[in-house]
Amino acid sequence: MVRLRFAPSPTGFLHVGGLRTALFCWLYVRKNHGKFVFRLEDTDQKRAVSGAENELIRMLEWAGIDIDEGPHLGGEMAPYRQSERLEIYNQYAGKLLDQGNAYPCFCTAERLEKLRDEQHAKGETPRYDGFCRNLSKDESARRIDSGEVHVIRMKIPEVSESIVLNDLIRGSVSIETGQSEDQVIVKSDGFPTYHLAVVVDDHLMEITHVVRGEEWLPSFPKHLLLYRYFGWNPPQFAHLPLILNPDRSKLSKRQGDVAVEDFREKGYLPESLINFIALLGWSPKEERELFTLPELVEEFSFERVNKSGAVFDLEKLNWMNQQYIQKLELDDLQQRLKPFINKTPYAGEAPSLFRKIVKILQPRLVTLSDIENRLSFFFEDNPEASDAEVLRVLREENTKQVLANFLKQVESVQSLTMDNFGELMKNVQNETNIKGKNLWMPLRYAITLEKEGPDLKLIIDFFGKERCMHLVQRALEI
Ligand code: GLU
Repeated sequence: MVRLRFAPSPTGFLHVGGLRTALFCWLYVRKNHGKFVFRLEDTDQKRAVSGAENELIRMLEWAGIDIDEGPHLGGEMAPYRQSERLEIYNQYAGKLLDQGNAYPCFCTAERLEKLRDEQHAKGETPRYDGFCRNLSKDESARRIDSGEVHVIRMKIPEVSESIVLNDLIRGSVSIETGQSEDQVIVKSDGFPTYHLAVVVDDHLMEITHVVRGEEWLPSFPKHLLLYRYFGWNPPQFAHLPLILNPDRSKLSKRQGDVAVEDFREKGYLPESLINFIALLGWSPKEERELFTLPELVEEFSFERVNKSGAVFDLEKLNWMNQQYIQKLELDDLQQRLKPFINKTPYAGEAPSLFRKIVKILQPRLVTLSDIENRLSFFFEDNPEASDAEVLRVLREENTKQVLANFLKQVESVQSLTMDNFGELMKNVQNETNIKGKNLWMPLRYAITLEKEGPDLKLIIDFFGKERCMHLVQRALEI
């Protein structure tokens, strides 16, 4: 059975890059009827942020990515928090020590700093010089017993060799072990580093595919060496391409939002965010962009993930979000808009009014939060025009003629609805001899005070006779 894990560190919010990693794992798992495991990599206690674990899980769930095993759910291979697995890592570190694949290192921070400075000065890449590598077992034991602070380092082979990885995305990748230093695998506080913990856990949790960001590619020789030292078969690996800003720099907070939570708060739908994220690095067989989650499960494969970086194009996400909003059932959309409407002063207005408003605005919303700025138009008695072009048109003679005649027509009917609006406008046309753009634009501008906007007849219907007359009257006074 395939088993994939998403293994974030609880250092803060869920990054869109993290969501993509989780998504690709999840798609592969669901396609192959496997298990999706959430493992918390919290061995760096200094960087842990409280509440981050729940937040990460909450965002995955919001996006529709359900977890099969994890700290909040338990599972056969629990615990799923690395901080609760310290004994396991110590046991395996002990094994490496016994086998001579690792050694205690007593070098002080001062010595290491001095070493780095010297190497820098000589123009060399800083790396540990193996000072403690050949201490005798007895000496090490004596120093440990006397309480001397130490770490444990894995041994990189004396003679450099090529380690080859058959990556599911990149094909065969080879790195010389000589490029790595004797990596610390257990820190002085007794916590493992990522490198030891990830290998031990992926093995014990029977992970079949390790999917992670490209930034981890240089680490695979160390990991494959650890698999070798333990005598374990490594899983398959897929290193995902970087996500880039439009200027092709690495996606960063400085150039916009990167937290899934930010997108949720701005009113992006989980369906569209997921669809958009799926296309960051993966491309479907056919030329098509809109995919539901089940369709993605059907289509996804690692073979169609690119090696090169994927640009995060906000315009495209906006386009997609608008497409998805347009497709929602009215009830569903109204439900999803509720939290955004609740932020406005109009939250207490009748739900039946909102239903009409939502219908009017649906084709124009790019994000759900767009509704927040659009409500005043429906509820303010005396909206003011601010657009210079609108003001200019409203002051034209032709406009005044249309509006005056419109008022006359409306006065003669009992009510103004979308059913009689067209007929009234025909009368205006016949009596003023004005038609087309010159007929419709003045009315749109008078009622909406904007150049572009939702369907005029829906707005007219929403406002009704009194209010439309009031707005046209006001426009005539401009
Ligand atoms: N904890 C690592 C991270 O947050 C996981 C890397 C991996 O998936 O192996 O990036």
